[in-house]
Amino acid sequence: MEHVALNMDIKTDIVIIGAGPAGSMAANVLRDAGKSVVIIDKSNFPRHKSCAGGLTPKTIAELPFDIKALSQHNSDKMLFKFTNGKTVDLNNELGACKMVIREEFDHYFLILL
Ligand SMILES: Cc1cc2nc3c(=O)[nH]c(=O)nc-3n(C[C@H](O)[C@H](O)[C@H](O)COP(=O)(O)OP(=O)(O)OC[C@H]3O[C@@H](n4cnc5c(N)ncnc54)[C@H](O)[C@@H]3O)c2cc1C
Repeated sequence: MEHVALNMDIKTDIVIIGAGPAGSMAANVLRDAGKSVVIIDKSNFPRHKSCAGGLTPKTIAELPFDIKALSQHNSDKMLFKFTNGKTVDLNNELGACKMVIREEFDHYFLILL
């Protein structure tokens, strides 16, 4: 692992550790509220993230950007089957989810900030 020592003074209202979707969304909201934000991640981006990359319509509606360019596939229906026999059927007029590649999605979100 490479350690980089930053020898500089940074004046900012808020420091966010972690540049995944949670960190980038928080930075976006805080910046829009007029706060200065520094976001730090231990990884160099784009970085690998284990994830299926499914974004529900509710998530997409909250995003501060259009994911059209990042979307790989639209799933109209999703059926989850659990070992206890229960099922969850995600099926509505907006579609079940859009699929993205997480490495691309997270990097795109971060560089928009
Ligand atoms: C196999 C799998 C499949 C999944 N599929 C889906 C799916 O289809 N749809 C869905 O919505 N969710 C899915 N998830 C869940 C989804 O990946 C997480 O909910 C989401 O990544 C959480 O985002 P986050 O920003 O909180 O964290 P992360 O995306 O994990 O980001 C955290 C960031 O913090 C950084 N970090 C951690 N520790 C430090 C530190 N000490 N110093 C500096 N930086 C640090 C990391 O490098 C990382 O970049 C899946 C998860 C897994 C494991």
